[in-house]
Amino acid sequence: MSITFFNTATKQKEAFTPLEDGKVKLYTCGPTVYDYAHIGNFRTFLFEDFLKRYLLLRGFEVTHIMNLTDVDDKTIDRANMEGQDLKLFTKKFTELFFQDSEQLNILPADEYPAATNHIDIMIDLIQLLLEKEYAYETEDGSIYFSIGSFGDYGKLARLNMGGQQQTDRVSSDDYSKDNPQDFALWKSWKENDGDIGWDSPWGKGRPGWHIECSAMSMHYLGRHFDIHCGGTDNIFPHHENEWAQSVAGTGSKFVNFWMHSEHLLVDGGKMSKSLGNYFRVDDLVKKGISPEAIRFSLLNGHYRSRLNFTLAKASDAKKTIARIKDFKERLEAHCENSELSNLDLPKEFELFMSALDDDLNIPEALAVFFEWLRKMNSMFDEGSISKNEAVSGLKFLEKFNSVFQIFSVSEDIPKEIMEMAEKRETARQEKNWDASDRIRYELSEKGWSVEDTPSGPKIKKL
Ligand SMILES: [Zn+2]
Repeated sequence: MSITFFNTATKQKEAFTPLEDGKVKLYTCGPTVYDYAHIGNFRTFLFEDFLKRYLLLRGFEVTHIMNLTDVDDKTIDRANMEGQDLKLFTKKFTELFFQDSEQLNILPADEYPAATNHIDIMIDLIQLLLEKEYAYETEDGSIYFSIGSFGDYGKLARLNMGGQQQTDRVSSDDYSKDNPQDFALWKSWKENDGDIGWDSPWGKGRPGWHIECSAMSMHYLGRHFDIHCGGTDNIFPHHENEWAQSVAGTGSKFVNFWMHSEHLLVDGGKMSKSLGNYFRVDDLVKKGISPEAIRFSLLNGHYRSRLNFTLAKASDAKKTIARIKDFKERLEAHCENSELSNLDLPKEFELFMSALDDDLNIPEALAVFFEWLRKMNSMFDEGSISKNEAVSGLKFLEKFNSVFQIFSVSEDIPKEIMEMAEKRETARQEKNWDASDRIRYELSEKGWSVEDTPSGPKIKKL
């Protein structure tokens, strides 16, 4: 197995090996919780989820940190506009983000550090940058990063810094690539900030957006870690600045792989409220599109290519999922009462994985999968499929689903029952038969049966 990922920092595919054998440290920029997340945001979060699930399928342990930007220009402006307390305002959108993520079956991160709970470590990093003279204080008590002091500035976003006359600085969090400037690490308190502000050695103020991710990623993952993800719109200024601050502050390498997913288009263009094609996850669910179909639609393309979403495609995804589910039932019916076996996976599984090993080439992996599905279905039609082929087919399907998550055993099964079944499965894997039998009994008392099949435990209503 050799894994390659496209690294934005070098603009080429590189062989991936984690810093620590078998363990991957992953940081993904989380939502700015000032508004509802739309499906364009979720394209990025699903790419990251797919990457994580792929790494897990390849047997790595993954430590995943996703931050929550709960203080920056946008959150402050919007909370002020609505006349709301910043904490309460961002809490609502944080909760909605978690609900959508759960609906889309996105694996939870190990931690979701919120910026407002980590101001002290941001101040420490800014102090370090001041000491090392990568940063300077202005008259009003703000601190800026001096891009001229950092020789590698502009490398990630491939900025043309030649002949750059550094005369100005930018205080807002977001600005254009055409005009790289010294940017704010700490913003002194302004009237517009209302009661939002923290004490610092430079007076009351708040951190800039970029320093938040530098401080929190290094706090949780160490100064040098494996993969940092985001959408392409994060490359500049956010990730460029994050890189500069982190490397300048610690003098260490920061991230080995920068991976970015491309934009989502809707109906061939930019999603727009006025065109009526601005979608949140819930908007689509209300239109009868299942979270699984949304998930599949947003994953069905190469993460480095623009992906066009249309309602027609989402309904095609629904049909595709139904087709895969029918196939799954066909396989299950054919290997009923078969014991869990150590049968090999079909050879197509290796091809499927090789496509994913090659910078997550989803289109190719899906082509392999559907070719195999067609072949298996014709074997069913001819009656030439063996029990073993069906069992190993189910195993492939299980692996396929562990990354795509287009069907789950949890459909219509209450959460409490699912949790009990998971506990029983863990007990079984630990060969703790007493506990596993006890939970099976408790499940039957509640009206559910659990059956161990080649594709895993199957829960049924009694
Ligand atoms: Zn970030």
